[in-house]
Amino acid sequence: MLRLYNTLTRSKEEFKPAKPGQVGFYLCGPTVYNDIHIGNARTFIVFDVVRRYLIWRGYQVTFVQNITDVDDKIIDRAKTAGMAPAELAADYDAAYRQVMEALGVLAPDIQPHATAEIEEMIKLASCLVESGHAYELEGSVYFDVRSDPDYGKLSHRDIDQLKSGARIEVDVAKHDPLDFAVWKAAKPGEPAWDSPWGQGRPGWHLECSTMAAKYLGLPFDIHAGGNDLIFPHHENEIAQAECCGDREFAHYWLHSGMLTIDQAKMSKSEGNYLLLKDVLQIVNPQALRLLMLQTHYRSPFDYSPARLDEAKAALARIREALRNAEWKGGQADLHAACATARQAFQEAMDDDFNTAQALAALYDLIGALNKSEGSGEAVDTLLELLGVLGIDLRSSAEDAYSPAVVPLAAELTGYPGDIAAEAVELLLERRAAARADKDFELADRIRDRLAELGLGIKDTAQGSRLEPL
Ligand SMILES: [Zn+2]
Repeated sequence: MLRLYNTLTRSKEEFKPAKPGQVGFYLCGPTVYNDIHIGNARTFIVFDVVRRYLIWRGYQVTFVQNITDVDDKIIDRAKTAGMAPAELAADYDAAYRQVMEALGVLAPDIQPHATAEIEEMIKLASCLVESGHAYELEGSVYFDVRSDPDYGKLSHRDIDQLKSGARIEVDVAKHDPLDFAVWKAAKPGEPAWDSPWGQGRPGWHLECSTMAAKYLGLPFDIHAGGNDLIFPHHENEIAQAECCGDREFAHYWLHSGMLTIDQAKMSKSEGNYLLLKDVLQIVNPQALRLLMLQTHYRSPFDYSPARLDEAKAALARIREALRNAEWKGGQADLHAACATARQAFQEAMDDDFNTAQALAALYDLIGALNKSEGSGEAVDTLLELLGVLGIDLRSSAEDAYSPAVVPLAAELTGYPGDIAAEAVELLLERRAAARADKDFELADRIRDRLAELGLGIKDTAQGSRLEPL
């Protein structure tokens, strides 16, 4: 039985989708005004794993993630950069997709852009005005939080508590300081669309309420995001969606914990701020996932170079176990160990996606595999379950052999072909021959040139092979 922690009820609940066997899943996407940092990456990784696990459990999942491509931050940044906001947003949108692909995050089934959904957003805003939950003020539309008796139900605070904790904008005309913009009147030179209230653009919260409802229907099953979005973003999404008609918005609210670096909050001004694209220069995506999945998704996660190195070493040990099993080529009977690992993995993941515990089940199976003469079943089981965590080692040999080994083999061995695996074979043979001839200068040169490509040579009793450094 799959149980998940619902922020709305503050308890672990049995997962029962609205339509049996099907899951509607909405994850708040990026505002495309900069490159994403590793705190964002954590959120996208953990919910990619939740999605993959639901699929593995047999659910048909419809995964929607928006792109916020109109927003104050985009407008400000574009002004500074001397670009059109749409142009800046398109650049960072492309950069975002690129790093997600590099990270092995599955592409959303539907990825709506806010600017393509304005008409629907105006409809929802109009509905709120007509039903008395929102009011117009100088071309903007504000949500009236006092009109919604449920306001605060996700963050578990009433309006007066929220008010004391919130940063209050000085805007005397609003009915209540917590009232938030559903629609914003355009300032000169800003991107704007026609609306019943004049030229303007949607508020961020309105975008998600609209796109989730449009693509998943209401109520849908899972709404997810980082826990910094609980208030005000998700609270406001719920208020807008549920006040227009008597309907529930999303049933289960999942929130990931924040990321710190060396125990400190990530902050540009403190100089401990890491972009995902820079982290991917020093670690492969599988090791980064392995690192992040060692911590439960709701807990705070602390990133440090030392932990990163540990994750790299752990990944190398997993690879080693799988390769050794293939080299040994035996068929030990690990059926019972595989069944145990599979069951333990599922029990851990069924308990609110306890990935740390799920990894422990895999390490147990790796231990059994290391002690055996090799087992195809254990290798297959490990590859399958690691794949559920988005750690894809099936193609790791090909990954390790970047196409750049081909010209290197052409240069050092005269290899005329274009197959990376053959090029690697020849380079290793050439190095073995050089060592046999005591031509250490050539042997070292081959090693160094491979190292420049991020490949290390591993000498074993069965011969040499390459591994990512
Ligand atoms: Zn959102």
